[in-house]
Formats: sequence, structure tokens, C-alpha cells
Amino acid sequence: MNKNNLPLIEFNPKLPKLSNSEKAVLELLVEAGRLIVPIYLEQEKQAKIEIDKKEIEEESQKDPAILSPYTALEKVNGEIVATPYHKKYAGLLKPIAEKLTKASEITDNKEFGKALKIQSKALLDGSYEEATAAFLKIESPYIFDIAIGPVDHFDDELFFGKASYQAWVGILDMDGTERLNNYKSVTLSARRHALMSKGMVEAAIIRAKVLDVVLFSGFMARTRFAGVNLPTDTNTIEKYGAQVTLFNQPNDLRVKEQIVPTFNKIFSRGFKEGFSQEDLRRGYLRSIALHELAHSYLYYKNTAKNLKDLFPSINELAATVLGLRLAGTLLLKDRINEKQLQSMIVAFICRSFSLIEGRRNTLPLVNYRLGGLIYINFMLQNGALKQLDNLVYINFTKVFVSLHELSSMLENLLAHGTRMDAELFIKKYTTLYS
Ligand SMILES: [Zn+2]
Repeated sequence: MNKNNLPLIEFNPKLPKLSNSEKAVLELLVEAGRLIVPIYLEQEKQAKIEIDKKEIEEESQKDPAILSPYTALEKVNGEIVATPYHKKYAGLLKPIAEKLTKASEITDNKEFGKALKIQSKALLDGSYEEATAAFLKIESPYIFDIAIGPVDHFDDELFFGKASYQAWVGILDMDGTERLNNYKSVTLSARRHALMSKGMVEAAIIRAKVLDVVLFSGFMARTRFAGVNLPTDTNTIEKYGAQVTLFNQPNDLRVKEQIVPTFNKIFSRGFKEGFSQEDLRRGYLRSIALHELAHSYLYYKNTAKNLKDLFPSINELAATVLGLRLAGTLLLKDRINEKQLQSMIVAFICRSFSLIEGRRNTLPLVNYRLGGLIYINFMLQNGALKQLDNLVYINFTKVFVSLHELSSMLENLLAHGTRMDAELFIKKYTTLYS
């Protein structure tokens, strides 16, 4: 698919009927997305330059721009120099901005056109917050979606976490989007009634959409996320809101490459007869949907600062576990049935085992791997999972009871834990099986 290991994946989803101007807009968005590749390759080269953490902290006292997610660091005559992304990559960004501007002039959708224009400007002058706000303001989702530019995914070590250049271009999946928004309203009201706890930040608005993906480039092509919830900065979220986006084709790819092979390996023949590939595909997509929605119910101020480098692992697992609990709410409201809930649990167990076995130690995967490890250990210690003769046996009732226990522990850590608390927790639940 990407033979040269370029950070670019192009999918071929079935396109809806498009007018000539819409065809031209899509073409321009895709061309703009491809142009992210050379910038991200530059960033990958940059990431290999070793700059001492301590030195960064010290020098940032003099120049706070060193810690900004949107600066590139270099050593000039022994001193750390921070250059804003939009200056460092100005030459590569210019043609991207031109394509976005051109698309903004052609599109029939005024709101989308306006957001594109603001995004185009942001790439060249660093006014990213305005662009984030402009896209979140779009009331009714348009047939096309694009996210392009540097995005802070919380995936790097937090002291000098830098935003990665990325792009996605997608076509709105209207049925999927309607289902996701249905899940959103059910889980959001459950969260408000029963689970909202002190010290939480509430998003100004939560938008949710499902896309058929045309293109992933830069960071998104490397990570192949099946869903995202952006932005990650709690101040921005409080002010402008957050957007959950799910990606159909990357989800299917992950199910094919990871979930199904693991499923075939770790379960008994009798158990496997109970779940088809389609059950797993839908189960995994649902678990991602609820994971991303759950992120929006787990914003606490200062968590990232308190938990430091351990924040991403704890936060990601907390979203998965809360997501599976919220699936219980969907079950109570008859939005999903028991078999569908079980398929979600099975799919996430497969994902966890595949991450553990994969032993990939690159960021951000290492964060998800650690989360998977805690999850499996927790379930084994509670007897919700049993391992016998290299096979895994699930007790679904015990899994569900354990999910409650695990999610309150994780939320405690997010709400008022220290890095030491998180470290002890991780130690406790990575001993049995690691
Ligand atoms: Zn997540």
C-alpha cells in the first residue's frame, strides 16, 4: 500500500454522486493532503536529533517558545533555538495553503469554504486556534472533511511534546454519522446524570462524524488511527469544543491485520464459532466510537501536568474502559444487544493481545501497549480472563464487573493522581503477564 514507506495512504472508498465543482474541490483537498508528506519526513529527521531533556527545561526559562508544540528545535552554536513551524516549513506550506484557498473559492458550501480559508491562513502564520474554532463552528457536517496542519496528539513525551504534521481527507458517511450521534446523545446524558465528577472540564460542544477515508498523510499515515478526538488541549476544548472523527477504512484495515489474526490464535474453536468477522469488525468500530466519545467525558485540568509521561497511557486506557462501560448504557437503552456488547469486549481483548505481542516500542504505540497490558493483567487477576494451554477464556459477567472497578481507579488517577500514584498502579498491574 505504501511501498516506499512514505507516510501516505490513499484509500478508494465508493464516492457519492458529486457535482463538477465538488469533484474539483475534492481533487484540491487530496493534492493538499499529499503535500504534507515532505514536511512530516522533515519532522521525522528532526526527531532523531538528540537534545537533552534537562537542557530543554533549563533553556525554556529564557525562551518559553522552546516548549510550544508548534516550534522546531535546533542547536546553533551550542544553544537551543526554537523556530515556529510556519517559518521553518514556509516554503513547503505555501503550495498547500494555495490549494486550500483555491478549494475555498470553488466550494458551494459557505461555512466549509470559510473554514478552509482560515485554515490556509493558519498554516502560514501559526493562528491554529482560529482554524480549530472555525471547523468546530460548522453547524451541519459537509460532504467532505479535511484536517490539515500540525496537530498535538499528546503522543510525545509531555515536557517537549511537539505537534506532528498530518492530514486526512474524507467523505462523510451519513448513516455512520447518524449512529455515532445517537450513541453520543445517549452516553452524554448518562454521563451527565450519573458519572460527572468534580474538577472536570466540559467541552463547549462535542461534534461527531464518521468518514470514508480518501487519504491519510504524515502522522495519520504512520499511526493509522481508527478514530480521534481533537483538540487535546483542555483550554481550547472548554472554549470551542471537541470533534470526534471515526475512520471506516483504517478501522477495517486494523481488524483485518490485527484483530482477526489474534482472534484466530487465542480463542478455542467452540468460542470462535460464536463470532463472525463482521461481528468483530462492527464490535471494534463500536469500541473505537465509544473510546473517542469517552475522551470527551474525561477532561480534567492539570492531569497531563500531574501524571507527566504516564498521562497518555492512563488516559487512553481510561477512555477505553469508560467507553465499554458506556456501552452498557447503550445496552440498557436497547441501542445494542448483548452479542454486540460481547463483540466489543472480544475485539478489545484481541487488540490488547496484539499490541502486547507486537512489542512495538515506538511512540505513541508504546502508550497503547502499556494500556493493553494493564487491562489484560487486571482481567486475569480478577478471574475475568483465564489462560489455559495457550488459549484465552472470557467470563463476560466478570469482565463487566471488573470494568467498573478499573474505570473508577483510572478516573481517580486522572482526577487527582500524582506521577508516583500512576507508577505504582502500573507496577501493580503489569506483573502477572508482561
Ligand atoms: Zn484515545
